[in-house]
Formats: sequence, C-alpha cells, structure tokens
Amino acid sequence: MRDVLLLFGMQGSGKGTQGERIKKRYGGFTDIIVGQLLREKARTDKKMEVFMKTGNLFPDEIVENVIEEKIDALSAEEKILFDGFPRSESQFLIFERLARKYQFHTVALNILINEEESLERLRKRYVCPKCDYMQVGEGTCPNDGTKLELRLDDTNPEIIKHRISIFKKDTQPIIDHFKEKGELTEIDGIGSFDEVTERIFKVLDKYYEVSKVA
Ligand SMILES: [Zn+2]
Repeated sequence: MRDVLLLFGMQGSGKGTQGERIKKRYGGFTDIIVGQLLREKARTDKKMEVFMKTGNLFPDEIVENVIEEKIDALSAEEKILFDGFPRSESQFLIFERLARKYQFHTVALNILINEEESLERLRKRYVCPKCDYMQVGEGTCPNDGTKLELRLDDTNPEIIKHRISIFKKDTQPIIDHFKEKGELTEIDGIGSFDEVTERIFKVLDKYYEVSKVA
C-alpha cells in the first residue's frame, strides 16, 4: 500500500500553498512533479532531448517509466503528492496502471472556486521573481526579501480565460473519474487560505497521522 494524494483546483485556488501546508502537517510526503522528472530525464538522455526541444509530448511509456523509477526509489512509508499529474485521459490510464502495480491508496482533493473568483485572485497574485513564492496582495518575499511582482500573464484576462478553458476541457474530466471511483473530496475554496487549510486538514486527518515534528 502506498498513500497517494492528488490536489486539483482551478488557477488561483491556492493549490500550491495548501500542498506545502499539508506536507508540513503530516510529513513524509515526496512530491512527484512529472514535468520536472521529464526535464531531468531529457538533460541526461540525448534521445529524450528531442521532446523538450520540439515541445512534443513525451510518449506515455516514458512518462510511466520516469514515475516508476521515482517510486521504486522511495522508502516503504513515504507518501506521494503528485503535482500536475494525471492531466490527460492517457495519463489517467497510466495512473490506473501504477495504482494497481503499487497498490495506491488514493485521496484526491478538488479545491473548488468559481471562474470569477479565479480571475479575481490571479489579478491580485504577487510572486517573487527569485523563488516563486506567491501571495495575494503586495509585499516582500519572506524567503529572500525581494519585492513581489505581479505576473504579466496573470493580469491578462485573455490568457487567464484560456487557462481556465483548458482546465475545464482537460482536467475536469480527470477529476470526474476520481469522483466516480469514490476517491474525490470536494473542498470549498472560498475564503482565506487559512479557512481552506482548516477544511482540508479536517478531511486529511481521517487518512493521515499528524507528524510529531510539525
Ligand atoms: Zn523569494
């Protein structure tokens, strides 16, 4: 059995922040960021480089292999937090194969916000140009003191609307699969980050032990 957590949510839902808080509270999570694994693979493997350079999607077998390699290297108790995976129907099938092979115990959370809320939050989202820290509203980065900036993409409603439409088209059907399997819990994403965190912890406390070092 391997504990696996999936976090879904529209742009601006605060997924990243909540993920960090979850990892801190329960401990023993390894992030599997599939995009990053593929980029690393491409750096060390000439044959893979072509996918990066041409912007073509990596074949499913390769995606499956890099994830397997990563899971095989984990200790038995390590929990997995998948980031940006599965994000398509074919990746969902990969997930299903991995789930059988490694006996995943999957908890999927969907942080629900509506489209207006998403647009509104992205408009006020400030990021650190050095380390990707982000928050709603102006300020300086707590990690390195850099002045936070608005991201140009986020202030452009057309770009945001496009991202939201991709979410609805590609990600929503995947979320629906987890719902059909009874593995999804919907979290009300309206309110402050702290309020949403509280709702998430209430759900996850049923599945994971709170870390003693947290
Ligand atoms: Zn920073």
